[in-house]
Amino acid sequence: MAGWHLEHTYAERLPELFHSPATPVAVREPHLIAFNRPLAATLGLDPQALERPGLETLAGVLAGNALPEASRPIAQAYAGHQFGHFTSLGDGRAILIGEQITPSGERFDVQLKGAGPTRFSRRGDGRAALGPMLREYIISEAMHALGIPTTRSLAVVTTGEPVYRETVLQGAVLTRVAASHIRVGTMQWAAAHGGESATRALADYTLQRHYPDLVESPAPYVALFEAILARQASLIARWQLVGFVHGVMNTDNMALSGETIDYGPCAFMDAYDPATVFSSIDAGARYAYGNQPTIAQWNLARLAEAMLPLFDPDADRAVEQATAALDRFPDLFQRHWLDGIRGKLGLFAPEPDDAALVGDLLAWMHRRSADFTNTFRSLTSGRLVEDAANRDADLETWQFRLKARRSRQSQSAGEVSVLMQQHNPAVIPRNHNVENALLAATSRGDVSVMNRLLEVLATPYDHHRDLPAFSAPASGGGRYRTFCGT
Ligand code: AMP
Ligand code: MG
Repeated sequence: MAGWHLEHTYAERLPELFHSPATPVAVREPHLIAFNRPLAATLGLDPQALERPGLETLAGVLAGNALPEASRPIAQAYAGHQFGHFTSLGDGRAILIGEQITPSGERFDVQLKGAGPTRFSRRGDGRAALGPMLREYIISEAMHALGIPTTRSLAVVTTGEPVYRETVLQGAVLTRVAASHIRVGTMQWAAAHGGESATRALADYTLQRHYPDLVESPAPYVALFEAILARQASLIARWQLVGFVHGVMNTDNMALSGETIDYGPCAFMDAYDPATVFSSIDAGARYAYGNQPTIAQWNLARLAEAMLPLFDPDADRAVEQATAALDRFPDLFQRHWLDGIRGKLGLFAPEPDDAALVGDLLAWMHRRSADFTNTFRSLTSGRLVEDAANRDADLETWQFRLKARRSRQSQSAGEVSVLMQQHNPAVIPRNHNVENALLAATSRGDVSVMNRLLEVLATPYDHHRDLPAFSAPASGGGRYRTFCGT
């Protein structure tokens, strides 16, 4: 694939503690299943230039069979709290081939997930199955289209080799593209295995790569921590506003860039319920929808612990600074959440009672098990109370309050409508649609269902299409369960 412009600052600027050479193991029969042309263009890659006889195929490159000349494949080390317990992990099945510099000068990690074992694989085979990789492709691209910061997916290639899980599955490699793969768990790894000099090296690298404006600040490490915290407050608010449940918010799955990372058991909530959990391994509901802001703050506290010596040589003062920053998280989150909610309700400027106004709507939705996305969608189209299913005195009273609230703002009905359309997706990746797409692709090799779904999800704020097959929640109820897919 022509257009590679790879650099390797992670490997070059950080000590060996942070990475380990890792060569993808060639696969038998690479076959391209999904390829993201717009993303390839953004990255400056030209897929056509590669599809010439005698040269490697695109699939071969993206399976790791023939790496671009300038690649320098490594696996990154990291630790993490998994469901509250500290462990040393590292990339057990993802190999970073380099940092692609785009034509506009941006830097993105390009990683092959499922490309074979690394130093950190422990007992794992370093491989991935097709279903989970397509799932990551679909959901991460949907998140991107929703305007939520996220790692992205360039391609999925099947390997022509089986992977052995509970059953025999088709092997696949996902090409993941990320601002970086520096995690809260990377800082924890540095603190646990390299002490202060390693955490300083990683903090300096993170500052330069993601927060260059802060490099010159008087207390750069405190500023870095505050900036990471601010991005997380914004990110988690964005998740909550569309009903996204990450499902496995371990500290190794939280990126310091502020992107959503690690699409395993994630799914979107249908009926509004803060207790919504999809992941089969989250028996304690630690990562339920309603817990996500609290868990983010908990993870940030683990990040602060790892960075403490950088904040201040005096341990007490360092703790004070970390605590002061952490204590601001709930308010910061709430501000982002309320800003977003106002948009969803068609409100422009804040008023003191906004939290109560939305709180009462959510309470009604919870009581009625109303679909989260479609309630806001009906509100956007002005059909919420007209909908026969919603004939309900509480809702009518609530809608009067909203009307009264809107009458105090100067914007026209047209402006209100535009604002709401921008904040309320008409479609999200519905669980049954995702499952149908995966089933067709994995059992019949039919990618047309997935491609149609991807097409629909690419413009989630388009309210001018009528797509009941994509906007209705699954009928029949029953709890949707997701699996990690490792
Ligand atoms: P995840 O649940 O994807 O966040 O992965 C948790 C850890 O397990 C990470 O260190 C992964 O690299 C590792 N891992 C997951 N699946 C495999 C596999 N098939 N082979 C080796 N390591 C794996
Ligand atoms: Mg992970």
